[in-house]
Amino acid sequence: MSDYDAVIAGGGMVGATLANLLAVALPELRVAVVEGRQPESMPAADAEWSNRVSAVSGASRHILHAAGAWQGIDPARLSPYRRMVVWDSSGAADSESSLRFDSAELGVSELGHIVENRSIQAGLFGALARCSQIEWLCPDRVEAFDAEASQVIVSLSRNNTISTRLLVGADGANSSVRRIAGIEVRHRDYHQHALVATVATERDHGQTAWQRFLPEGPLAFLPLADGRCSIVWSTTPAAAESLLQCSEEEFIAALQKASDSILGSIVGVSNRASFPLRALHARRYTGKRLALIGDAAHAVHPMAGQGVNLGFLDAAALAEVLAESLERGGDPGDSRPLRRYERWRKGENLAMAGSIDLLHRLFSAQAKPLGRLRATGLGLVDKSALIKRFFMLRATGVGGDLPRWARNDPGANDQVRNGRGNGVN
Ligand SMILES: Cc1cc2nc3c(=O)[nH]c(=O)nc-3n(C[C@H](O)[C@H](O)[C@H](O)COP(=O)(O)OP(=O)(O)OC[C@H]3O[C@@H](n4cnc5c(N)ncnc54)[C@H](O)[C@@H]3O)c2cc1C
Repeated sequence: MSDYDAVIAGGGMVGATLANLLAVALPELRVAVVEGRQPESMPAADAEWSNRVSAVSGASRHILHAAGAWQGIDPARLSPYRRMVVWDSSGAADSESSLRFDSAELGVSELGHIVENRSIQAGLFGALARCSQIEWLCPDRVEAFDAEASQVIVSLSRNNTISTRLLVGADGANSSVRRIAGIEVRHRDYHQHALVATVATERDHGQTAWQRFLPEGPLAFLPLADGRCSIVWSTTPAAAESLLQCSEEEFIAALQKASDSILGSIVGVSNRASFPLRALHARRYTGKRLALIGDAAHAVHPMAGQGVNLGFLDAAALAEVLAESLERGGDPGDSRPLRRYERWRKGENLAMAGSIDLLHRLFSAQAKPLGRLRATGLGLVDKSALIKRFFMLRATGVGGDLPRWARNDPGANDQVRNGRGNGVN
């Protein structure tokens, strides 16, 4: 008998979501989460905002709610955004050539929420702490593993070995699990870094996410509940480095220019940091008694705010197919449900990654006629109700083949637990 039914390598936002969903759907399952870092604690109501935030879609909110995490996040630190304005630097934000999304057009109260990653992480950890069947092995790391016919033997960094019927790699873009399993990835280096910071602006953000496409990369202003914005400024590595090192005054002047003063003057800045950007997609999401979820399987450019949203959908889909299979007496490491998970999520993720890549190529092409074409294209999408609705549904995570927990379905827990999930083949 194995020590565990499932071991999750990586207790980041995606791995911890899977652990909680498994606890909800399959309370009898013995699960261990192996995580290298100590968990973050929930920020106090008056704590300074972290510069690591995510635009969380409605579908992800439902998943996090089912996982027991959303309820634990201080509502004062949840920032709903109701509108989105996207424009090219060759035009103006208030011109005919900008693209505007409004939650009212979809008949929903908001397009999504801006949430600090550490709040999500702490909410998930709080929920995990209430599940006695989940063991949190931390700080520890998966160093090596060997997949045998009936179990996987996993070696951890603190010199112990555990066995499990299923190993899930949720260990991020540099996944050791993926590397040890010999799963190849397709990479694309964007030659860009994302500079993040928290900024105060003269004008109110109006609960709107603003994104201006500049030749070097997009600049996004994400509205925070305290009236400030969290920015994600994708630019060349050299520019990002000098923006990190320069004085506050120089930074503010550069940001003012890059934003076309969309929110008036920038009146304060804190918390600058930067991250290299690259896309990757694993050729396979599964192997012998193995599955990859989240950034371990795919990483995308942050311009569409989709990375962790795709990961939450992976976690919900994997938990759903496992629940259905175990209900019929299966083994968590059976290849059939794992392949079903792979077919389901790989198709959805490839479609989203492909669209993001296309947008990135289109918006980073610098030829002047392309600038005009982009502006015209955004304006045209804005005027076509059908295409616009398609983009809005995708951006808010409502479109596509959603796991049951991602839909606003109060009976989802019972239905997944009783093996009446999505049923995709
Ligand atoms: C600037 C920026 C802005 C972004 N904005 C958004 C956004 O608005 N919306 C959105 O949806 N996405 C966004 N993303 C993407 C999002 O941050 C990632 O998709 C998400 O963090 C991936 O979560 P994960 O849990 O899969 O991986 P990670 O967050 O990388 O977590 C992996 C975990 O595994 C642990 N680990 C690693 N190796 C091992 C090992 N061998 N053994 C045990 N544990 C291990 C790590 O300690 C870590 O906790 C953004 C990304 C960037 C860079």
